[in-house]
Amino acid sequence: MNQHFPQIAPALVDPFGRHVTYLRVSVTDRCDFRCVYCMSENMNFLPKADLLTLEELDRLCSAFVARGVRKLRLTGGEPLVRRGIMTLVGSLSRHLTSGDLDELTLTTNGSQLPKYARELVDHGVKRINVSLDTLDAEKFRAITRWGELDKVIAGIDAAQAAGLRVKINAVALKGVNEDEIPTLIEWAHGRGMELTLIEVMPLGDVGEGRLDQYLPLSIVRARLAERYTLDDIAYRTGGPARYVRVAETGGTLGCGKRPPHAHTVAVPAPVSPITPNRTSKVRSDRRPVVIGARPPSVARSPSSSAPPSAGSRRPRCPSADPRPRHRGVRPPWPRGPGRGRSATG
Ligand code: SF4
Repeated sequence: MNQHFPQIAPALVDPFGRHVTYLRVSVTDRCDFRCVYCMSENMNFLPKADLLTLEELDRLCSAFVARGVRKLRLTGGEPLVRRGIMTLVGSLSRHLTSGDLDELTLTTNGSQLPKYARELVDHGVKRINVSLDTLDAEKFRAITRWGELDKVIAGIDAAQAAGLRVKINAVALKGVNEDEIPTLIEWAHGRGMELTLIEVMPLGDVGEGRLDQYLPLSIVRARLAERYTLDDIAYRTGGPARYVRVAETGGTLGCGKRPPHAHTVAVPAPVSPITPNRTSKVRSDRRPVVIGARPPSVARSPSSSAPPSAGSRRPRCPSADPRPRHRGVRPPWPRGPGRGRSATG
């Protein structure tokens, strides 16, 4: 049992009697990219003083581990841009060593992996998710605004060289990368990586035309089924994605959903000995457990469509950050006849 919570704490069980064993923790709202479906170009981030410190994050995660969480995923924003993040990863790895935790992992945009891949492995991380929507450098720049595809590919190279298993998460965007999905599948499977396609749910406001971005995965799958043999498999990773085996590539393909603000379901910060005034976001696979106020940023993940738990409160505290969160910068890719409008309309 972990050092902060040595007592046998009662397990977390949702109203349906299911044990909460998978927790996602957003360690920062910041990111070095500005994906058009996620953030505005000029983001207003939370003041650093409002974020949980690394020590508080460790304490919070450890409390969940003590209550039966077996899998921990660090997310953001971009988790690897949080200063001192490896201190937190290293500290949390003690739960792997003790056997209280089965898996410590993270979801990243890949840009910092050349720097951190080896250290992640040294701390017991075995696999990671990397978000990547296209293999076209220009399109990548247009989607992320600031991102460089070469750096992300270098990050994936570094991760695989260090021995990390990599799963690629790609958001399917109408008129942007829908024609590229077979290329992504063959590229990922050719490198021994799983690929999960994520559907943008046309909800919320990030200053962009969500209905213009929306590409139902049912349509994607139907198109893929004309090209490939897709065999349903029982494989699960803890999120809501469902998987098929692509017979022609031998690889695994997942399909999941992503609401526009994927990293959290927010509730006001409760009076808590852990988070008296500050903010973090914590989410489980089945039953969102959130502490803190909703930050202005979002990040992607396929496993965020679970409803608020009966025990959690509805979001009534966007007032924690009352500023407009997105300003609607449009990406530079062209619209044209016969082509779906761009992801941002
Ligand atoms: S989708 Fe991910 S990589 Fe893109 S801006 Fe959001 S957090 Fe950053």
